Amino acid sequence: MTPRLGLKVDVDTLAGFRQGVPALMDVLEAHQVKASFFLALGPDHSGRAIFRIFRQRGFLEKMWRTRAPSLYGFKTMCYGTLLPGPLIGAAAPRLAPRLAAAGHEVGLHGYDHVRWHDHLLRLSPAKVAREIALAQDAFAKCMGHRALAFAAPGWQCSLTSRTVLADQNFLYGSDTRGRTPYFPVFGDTVTAVLEIPTTLPTLDELLGFHGCGARDFTTLVLSRLERGAPQVLTLHAEMEGGPFLGEFDRLLARCRDRGVEFFRLQDWARQLLKEPAGLPISPVTSQRLPGRAGLVSCQGSLEARPS
Ligand SMILES: [Zn+2]
Repeated sequence: MTPRLGLKVDVDTLAGFRQGVPALMDVLEAHQVKASFFLALGPDHSGRAIFRIFRQRGFLEKMWRTRAPSLYGFKTMCYGTLLPGPLIGAAAPRLAPRLAAAGHEVGLHGYDHVRWHDHLLRLSPAKVAREIALAQDAFAKCMGHRALAFAAPGWQCSLTSRTVLADQNFLYGSDTRGRTPYFPVFGDTVTAVLEIPTTLPTLDELLGFHGCGARDFTTLVLSRLERGAPQVLTLHAEMEGGPFLGEFDRLLARCRDRGVEFFRLQDWARQLLKEPAGLPISPVTSQRLPGRAGLVSCQGSLEARPS
């Protein structure tokens, strides 16, 4: 069976957009690979993430392990605290159409990334809808049409957020960590928008864990591809498009040597939705993952879709 890999690129910060996205585009073009980019288009409040230190177990350890201050730069670390947060979408009018013209998928990664990541479960349904509507407005201004796909900041989703995705006619979401595409269930409610979860760990989760380096991460991704089922890997423009660009280039070269086929998430979603009745449903639960601070939304056990 041909190994298959979908690359999901999250863009969280203005620096990631301005520097990481063009760098990733060059490497992807060199390997003739198309990816799915998800853009946060609201204010860059990365500095506020520092305050997670007071609330979330594991945040300080993660900051140290991934060398976040050198990764993001001092200025980015001050946005939303000492400095006002600039609009990440300020880089979008030029770069987002370039991504689409190069054949990449472009979707939404929320509006205010930090607000969604830290407060989603406390936001009212109206505020959740507003976050997504603001992101859609910013997207439509630079792309001329609405986004079809939404990838939740920090893998945080809820019945409310998934209901808004359905109300706003999104084709699919990529909000959770899991194993295979499904329709998310919250309590007794089966939600209507297809979910394509991230199936692999991320580079920042593995770095420094038991002495692991970027090369160990590449080895892990390749070993998981050998199992045959399609995999979805989340990259960060600030990581793989920054200090780990060389290792990302190496990962793509090794994938090419092994005949890996790359797909855009949107194309997979369209293919799956031709027969939605055959897709499973799964509850979504909040869980801790190794190497990640706080809780993330994860796919639970698979069930057949009720007819
Ligand atoms: Zn993100």
